[in-house]
Amino acid sequence: MHNPQNGDCADCGREPPPLGDGTTLRSTYGWRLTLDRQPDGTTLAVWRCPECAARRRASRPDR
Ligand SMILES: [Zn+2]
Repeated sequence: MHNPQNGDCADCGREPPPLGDGTTLRSTYGWRLTLDRQPDGTTLAVWRCPECAARRRASRPDR
């Protein structure tokens, strides 16, 4: 089930590698934790898999 708040990729819904809840370990696999602005003005911490993280970075280049 697509559940970003449970650690799945926010874009494609892929489940993260089974590494427990260690954010450092996930990051070593290329997963990225980002703060997404929600329509109601709050921010939500979501994970993205390496592919989605790269596509997002390409479509929204940093200054
Ligand atoms: Zn993804």
